[in-house]
Amino acid sequence: MSNSIIRVEALHKSYVNGSNSLHVLKGIDMDIQKGEMVSIMGSSGSGKSTLLNILGILDNYDAGSYHLDDIHISKMNETKAAKYRNQYIGFVFQSFNLISFKNAMENVALPLYYQKVSRKKRNNLALEYLERMGLREWAHHLPSELSGGQKQRIAIARALISKPKIILADEPTGALDSQTSLEVMEILKEVNQTGIAIIIVTHENDIANQTQRIIRLRDGVIESNQVNHAFHLESVEVN
Ligand code: ADP
Ligand code: MG
Repeated sequence: MSNSIIRVEALHKSYVNGSNSLHVLKGIDMDIQKGEMVSIMGSSGSGKSTLLNILGILDNYDAGSYHLDDIHISKMNETKAAKYRNQYIGFVFQSFNLISFKNAMENVALPLYYQKVSRKKRNNLALEYLERMGLREWAHHLPSELSGGQKQRIAIARALISKPKIILADEPTGALDSQTSLEVMEILKEVNQTGIAIIIVTHENDIANQTQRIIRLRDGVIESNQVNHAFHLESVEVN
């Protein structure tokens, strides 16, 4: 047993469209520890979302290896991919990806619907997670009636409801103003304190500085991988 929740070695990924091939990931080595909170930075087009989609088993890679909790993740059918996804991973996206005609409670409960949990049980659990996000009284409102920060907190509750070991967040604050972004980061840090590893893709320094480690991607390779001293200083208790 290792302490890694995610271990990636010499990972390659190309997109092929007809006779065109775009080599996006060119040998990524990455190790994320259980319960760690890491950010991935890099300019637009550097391969951040591609990497996150592979880690989330939403897409396949071409070469190298990916171990999730010591399980080798290779090309697999959708049923098996969904099983690992449900067991390990919660997703949070820039655009929230809430279903517009379902209320907050139903949106949070959705992953349990796919896992065939009864309506009563999934709604009760959804209310619990909304409560944790401070949104209990918004349970019966539609996404269009909520602010951006509230929508992202609903998306986080939805990511948490199937008790993942990792949250993958692709620019979770990209659509939010800076004050709301920091509030969402506070929530993600609280989630991390419960032992859930979090990987946040961002191009904002203020967001990356809230995480333990900053990995920088450039043209499909890791340019740097640094412990964030600002985070560790913040964690020091002063008596
Ligand atoms: P980032 O998230 O860092 O902005 P992406 O991983 O989304 O970068 O994209 C990396 C490169 O791959 C970009 O040049 C993008 O246009 C291309 N790309 C992303 N997804 C696809 C796809 N499904 N098919 C073809 N090219 C893609
Ligand atoms: Mg992206």
